[in-house]
Amino acid sequence: MLGKMMDQQLLISSLIDHAARCHGRTEIVSVETSGEVDVTSWQEVARNARRLGSVLTKLGLPQETRCGTIAWNNRRHLEIYFGSSGAGFVCHTLNPRLHPDQMVYIANDAQDRVMFFDRTFLPAVANLKDRFDTVEHYVLLGPRDDEAAQMLDGLQFYDELIADGDPDFVWPELDERQPSSLCYTSGTTGNPKGVLYSHRSTLLHALVGNQPDGLAISACDTVMPVVPMFHVNAWGVPYTAASAGAKLVLPGPGLDGDSLANLIDTQHVTAAFGVPTIWMGLLAALEKSGSKLPSLTRTIVGGAPMPPSMYTAFRDKYDVELIQAWGMTETSPLATVNRLLQRHEGLSTEAQTDIRVGQGRSVYGIEIRLVDESGNVLPEDGATQGDLQVRGPWVVHSYFNKEDSALTPDGWFDTGDVATIDADGFMVIRDRSKDIIKSGGEWISTVELENIAIGHPAIANAAAIAAHHPKWDERPILIAVKSGDVSEAELLKIYDGKVASWQVPDRVIFVDELPLGATGKVVKLKLRETYANVLLEGAA
Ligand code: ADP
Repeated sequence: MLGKMMDQQLLISSLIDHAARCHGRTEIVSVETSGEVDVTSWQEVARNARRLGSVLTKLGLPQETRCGTIAWNNRRHLEIYFGSSGAGFVCHTLNPRLHPDQMVYIANDAQDRVMFFDRTFLPAVANLKDRFDTVEHYVLLGPRDDEAAQMLDGLQFYDELIADGDPDFVWPELDERQPSSLCYTSGTTGNPKGVLYSHRSTLLHALVGNQPDGLAISACDTVMPVVPMFHVNAWGVPYTAASAGAKLVLPGPGLDGDSLANLIDTQHVTAAFGVPTIWMGLLAALEKSGSKLPSLTRTIVGGAPMPPSMYTAFRDKYDVELIQAWGMTETSPLATVNRLLQRHEGLSTEAQTDIRVGQGRSVYGIEIRLVDESGNVLPEDGATQGDLQVRGPWVVHSYFNKEDSALTPDGWFDTGDVATIDADGFMVIRDRSKDIIKSGGEWISTVELENIAIGHPAIANAAAIAAHHPKWDERPILIAVKSGDVSEAELLKIYDGKVASWQVPDRVIFVDELPLGATGKVVKLKLRETYANVLLEGAA
C-alpha cells in the first residue's frame, strides 16, 4: 500500500514559480559587468527563465543537454539557473578563474552544447572556441553588441534570444531524480571531477538547509551571495532565496571590500555568504571607511577555516554574527552549520566563542563519522582525530562520466578532511589530509597554527605547511603576509602557551601575497613546491 498523498515531484521549476507567485514584487538587485546596478524582481526573473526554457526547448536540444555558463553572480545567470534546469536541461557552471586547459577539459567532459558567458569572458571564450568540441551555441549575456559580434562567429545575444521566448512557457513535468546542474571540483589534485546534482537533491538541500538552525533565510531578508554562482551553485543560495522569497543582491565582478561594503549599505543586506578571504577584504575596507554595516546581521562563512579573530572582529566591531558552515562540491555543499544549543546559552562569551569557531553540527539529513586509516569508526569525544566521512541524500555517489562508485564499501563518502567530533556532534576540521603536518610521528594542525598567526594584528594572512626535515621528517613553517610591522621572532612568540612547544613553526617566511586558487583558497601545493626544502637548505 502507498500513502494517499499527491505525488508531486520536487522540481527546481517549483521554486521559481513559488517566488513569482508569492514574492513576485521582491527585488532582485544585480551588479552588471559594466558596473551598472540592474533592479528587477522575482516575477521578472521567472518570466525570463520561462522565456529561456522555451527557447532552449525550441532549439531542439534533447533533455539533459548541458548548458555551460561562464559568468559572475548576476541576474541573467540567475535566470539560466532556473530556465535551463526548469526546462529539463543541466545548468553547468564553469569557473572562469581556472586554467584555460582545465576549462577546455571540463567543457568537453561535460559535452556542453550551449555556452552562456559574460562580456568580460568574451576574449577567453573566443580563444578557446576551437578547443570546445561540442559547443554549438555561444550566447553573450547582454544586449546586442556589434563589436562583440565581430570577435566570435555566430555569436548570439541573450537579451535578443529570450525576447523571442514565451513568458508563459509551461515547465515540463520531470522526474525529480533527473539531473539539474553540474559543478566540477576545483581539481587541486588531478583533473577536476563533475558532480551532477538532481532536482531532488537540490530541493532537499535548499529546504532542509534553511531551517532556523541552518541558513534561516526568510522573506524579510536581503541576501547577498558573494560565493560565486560558479562554485557549488553559490552554496544553493539562489534556490533557498527563491523558496523563502528573500530579496537577492548579486554583486557581479566587484568582490573587493569597498564594493561589498557599499552594496551592503546601499541595499541593506541582512545576510551575506562567502569564503574567509572575502571577509578579510571586507574587514580591511571597513577599517578605512568607518562603515558599521548597520543592516548586516549575519554572515555565513565556509569553504576554508574561519580564523577565530575574524569571528570576534565581526562580533565586537560590527555586531555581525559569523556562522561557520562546512561542506564541499560533493555535498551540494551544506553539511554542517555552527549554531549553539539551548544549554550553551548560559556559557561565558569566551566559552561560546570556542564552540562557534568550529564547523558545527550536521543539518538534518547529513550524517558524519570519523574513521582511522583502516576504516574503523572512531569515538566522538572531541579529541580523537580521524578521516571525516559523510552520507546523505545530497551527497555524491559517483562522479559525472564515471561508472565507479565514489563511496566506501559501506556507502560513505570520504571527504579528505581530518576532523574531531564531540559528544553533541560538533565537528572541528583540523586539516585536509593532504595538508597535514606529521612531525616525528605526531600530527600538527595547520589550521590551528594559521588561526593563531592571523590573530596577530600585524598579520593579514598566513599558511602553515610541512617542510622536509632531516630528523623529524616534517616540521611546520609559516608563510605569512604582513599588514603591519612584526618580526619573525615576535610572531613566533605568540605561540607560547597556545600550542605545545614542538608544534611551534620552525620558520616564518614573509611574502607579499599567498597564492589563491580558483575558489579563493590558499594553494598550499604551490607553497610546498616553493618552500618545502627550506629547512634542508638551512641545515646544509
Ligand atoms: P576543493 O576541494 O577543490 O577546495 P570544495 O570547494 O568542494 O573543493 O572544497 C571543499 C573543502 O573545503 C572541504 O573538503 C574542506 O577541506 C574545505 N572547507 C570547506 N568549508 C570549510 C570550513 N568551514 N572549514 C574548514 N575547511 C572547509
